[in-house]
Amino acid sequence: MTALLAQILTGHGGFAQYLYRLKLKNSPYCACAPDEVQNVLHVLKECLFFVKELVETETGTGVKIVRQGFPNLVNDDKNIAIFSKFCEGVTRRCNIKNSSTVYTAKD
Ligand SMILES: [Zn+2]
Repeated sequence: MTALLAQILTGHGGFAQYLYRLKLKNSPYCACAPDEVQNVLHVLKECLFFVKELVETETGTGVKIVRQGFPNLVNDDKNIAIFSKFCEGVTRRCNIKNSSTVYTAKD
């Protein structure tokens, strides 16, 4: 497991809601919409910044990214590789967008 994947699974990472809770950011909301709290579920399922990656992941795995679909993603070697790549890419970009220095993972 990589540090970026751990951020998605725990929610403890460069997401606005988490950074706001730690008083490291002024707002818990995502820059894609003023009324959308930026948490893990938002960035994986709804965020306008990651629509392309979401569609690629759903197409590549044949699984819709919903909470109920997670067992189908993590119980299949091919799907977990695709889903992990998606999670890591989203988390990396959230860290950059939020200028998060909570984690300084190199991967
Ligand atoms: Zn968003």
